[in-house]
Amino acid sequence: MKVDYNKLGFKAGIEIHQELNTGKLFCDCSSGMGEKELISETSRKLRASAGETGEVDLAAQYEQFRNRKFLYHGYKGEYCLVELDEEPPHAVNNEALMIGLGVAKMFKLNVPETICVMRKTVTDGSAVSGFQRTMLLGYENKDSFLETPEGRVKIVQLNLEEDSSKIEKKEGDAVYYSLSRLGVPLLEIGTDASLKDPKHVRETALAIGTLLRSFNVRRGIGSIRQDVNISIKEGARIEVKGWQDLKKLELLIENEVLRQYNLIEIKKELKKRKTGKFSKKTEDATELFRNSESRMISGIIQSGGSVIALLLPNFSGLLKKELCPEKTFGKELAEYAMAYGTKGMIHTDEDLSKYNLGKEFEELRKLFKAGKNDLIIVMAEKKAIAEKAADAVYERALYSLKGVPEETRIPNHHNATNSYARPLPGANRLYPETDIPNIDVTEELLGSVELPELIPEKINRLAKEYNVSRQLAKEVVDEGIDFEEYVRKYRKVEPGFIARTLIESPKEIKKRYNKEIEIEKHAPGILEKLNRGLITDDAVFEILIGIAEGKSPDYKQYKPLTGKLLEKEVKKILKENKGIPRNAVIGKVMGKLRGKAPGKEIMELVKKFHK
Ligand SMILES: [Zn+2]
Repeated sequence: MKVDYNKLGFKAGIEIHQELNTGKLFCDCSSGMGEKELISETSRKLRASAGETGEVDLAAQYEQFRNRKFLYHGYKGEYCLVELDEEPPHAVNNEALMIGLGVAKMFKLNVPETICVMRKTVTDGSAVSGFQRTMLLGYENKDSFLETPEGRVKIVQLNLEEDSSKIEKKEGDAVYYSLSRLGVPLLEIGTDASLKDPKHVRETALAIGTLLRSFNVRRGIGSIRQDVNISIKEGARIEVKGWQDLKKLELLIENEVLRQYNLIEIKKELKKRKTGKFSKKTEDATELFRNSESRMISGIIQSGGSVIALLLPNFSGLLKKELCPEKTFGKELAEYAMAYGTKGMIHTDEDLSKYNLGKEFEELRKLFKAGKNDLIIVMAEKKAIAEKAADAVYERALYSLKGVPEETRIPNHHNATNSYARPLPGANRLYPETDIPNIDVTEELLGSVELPELIPEKINRLAKEYNVSRQLAKEVVDEGIDFEEYVRKYRKVEPGFIARTLIESPKEIKKRYNKEIEIEKHAPGILEKLNRGLITDDAVFEILIGIAEGKSPDYKQYKPLTGKLLEKEVKKILKENKGIPRNAVIGKVMGKLRGKAPGKEIMELVKKFHK
């Protein structure tokens, strides 16, 4: 089905987060994230405190309620007292700053006169200090555009900030973080919300990512992440944070559009059912479930937990509705319960016989005086948790009368859907960092910003200078191959041949023989022999096949045959195969001499001497 995104009122913008390869932003630790030698574990608990406005943030309240314990793993060379918030930050990493200013220049952004480091509240434990440092390096003007295949996209903002710690594992109420990523410089580049469809979002992400690779950035999985904000008409602005798979970015967006579309359908259905605003109706159903046959529920009750039941009037059947592949509205609601610490929830749109809970739910129906159109949900956990979960599910269900709640959500990489995770810090979250002096952006500083050769320009130059196809030049650059170094080293080998050997041979070997070859490990030795005239062009591919098959190359076998020697060999084979048709003879000769002389030369000799 072709979706008309324009008609849907699709709007999207993207923020690219790119890690730099410069060492950390405010200390001297490595940004390598090798995580080889674990040398420390530190534990912290978060305390919510009122911000400057006197309000305690919802997100902070949430964490206080969850009362989780955060444990931080420190790896050798990749953390120090700065990450642990026990030493003030050092000055801003100059290389990272200069890269940031270079990127601002590349996108023609305005650079502020003064760069101020700010603190941004984080409450989920991903920063030991409870905040991340960030600084604005560039903001939009009429010229700050990016060219994409579907038109120009406005770049609106550029920030340089600290990356957060990465979760290693969760065990009950404990969350384990690695400190290795905390403080790694991260460039954040944002577009406006004018992207036209999911493909355009991907193209934009790709174009920005390609340009960024002109600078000293980290490569590999997780080193570049995308935050996407998406909305459709009657929907809401949803921000999905931290996507890592560019190839599936379109699917993530398609699924979110579907989710919003179907939430709007649910809103319409509720209207059809004449469902108005309803108040919260819950019952403590612990006693009712105490002797139930569901082991899971009775287990929770035996260990002191409670069962809280919630009535949703007129919701029957809706929780079965699929919002997008692998996600029903029931699953969606359950995420709100789970955010507060339940394992999930059970409701009357499910097959209750699989839990052996048919009887108990019948009782609940009576208790609530529920009609057949009403839906009942139960949540089992420690009482305070189950009650909070019921509150959250009620609030969310109530919102379905309005449609799609505006939220920041987390992606699920395995199926390109997204989920509600937790309340996020609000607008009060930014305040100045007093430990770092402001940086004056002088003419001199701006003048010293040098742009590297940008990747699209480099591709064009290589193609032209070395007479290779643009595609080949692009692949050489994408693979991070120092092509010009090869050309310098193997002067007598035609550059096009070098590029094809590095790019096309591995693909061809994979296709024909289903074997992998580490081309940059083996090519130099072979090209070296070719450069010295010790083997022929044709031998290079033959030798690579041999290596892929696990043989060590016997270069002598590929010694070029020239002049009289070649002629003699050809004549000999022809003599052995007298009376055979020419095509068959060519096969025989090529079979014996392939790789020892240029194919063209052999062919000419066959033509000359075959009678
Ligand atoms: Zn450090």
